Amino acid sequence: MNRALVRRLRNDYNSRSAYNSVPPDPVGSRYDMPELPEVETTRRGITSSLLHKPITAVRVRTSQLRWPVPGQLGRILSGSAFERIERRAKYLLLNNGKGTLIIHLGMSGSLRLVPADGPAGKHDHVDIVLADGQALRFTDPRKFGCLLWHEGPIAGHPLLQHLGPEPLTDAFNGAYLKRLSRGRKLAVKSFIMDGAVVVGVGNIYANESLFNAGIRPSRPAGRISLGRYELLATEIKQVLQNAIDVGGTTLRDFTGGDGKPGYFKQSLRVYGRGKLPCKVCQTPLTEIRLGQRSTVYCQSCQT
Ligand SMILES: [Zn+2]
Repeated sequence: MNRALVRRLRNDYNSRSAYNSVPPDPVGSRYDMPELPEVETTRRGITSSLLHKPITAVRVRTSQLRWPVPGQLGRILSGSAFERIERRAKYLLLNNGKGTLIIHLGMSGSLRLVPADGPAGKHDHVDIVLADGQALRFTDPRKFGCLLWHEGPIAGHPLLQHLGPEPLTDAFNGAYLKRLSRGRKLAVKSFIMDGAVVVGVGNIYANESLFNAGIRPSRPAGRISLGRYELLATEIKQVLQNAIDVGGTTLRDFTGGDGKPGYFKQSLRVYGRGKLPCKVCQTPLTEIRLGQRSTVYCQSCQT
């Protein structure tokens, strides 16, 4: 990766315009933005078709995504194969032994396997062509996603180096949240959505897990007890795991031709239900803006 790009990534990250602070809810696509469960489902969906399969070419139709697609990507990947396909936060990390292709789906991106000789649509920006006649296709109408190449330890990449723990690991728990929140006046919902605290708790999952834990989203983070943080950490894990499980079972097909893979609607208890009755106590749910994000809670169940 060239120095100018590293500098730009670092500046973008520091100005908080990178993916750890994605813009406010996009109008009309509130259920579609890929969150951690969709990215994990994508990872699982593409792995078997992609792993150890020789790459023959890369077709870049649009290089102007969130950051430019490296011009040498075809030369870099051709003749190699991905040996590891991992995820960190909402970044997919495809390693071919020489380096890592970092893919972020942005606000509207998707990946799927298609026949390599099939026609490409307007938003099909990149194909990674495999020797078996298939291609991994990156599609992204809003072009806020990215493909970047990185050699060397991935943890040191400017987009990844400041990320907090993965929510589904033991490192993320109530004691950790309690310790990190000490003295902080920030609303607890904004606190758990901060990627430096914990990654992958998007707006939907923050709303849902706070409801399940009975915690009001606007409560100052520093004024929540250890016991309530333990409950919150458990609920965050549960909500994300449920979404991954739903993704795994409702997923149509990553080799199919139509639609977006991996994005699924779940039964939500508060998100998108402002003014509707609480599913527990029937009180009309309250909707506010918190940190520019739609926030829905029950005045009676959440304190
Ligand atoms: Zn209620």
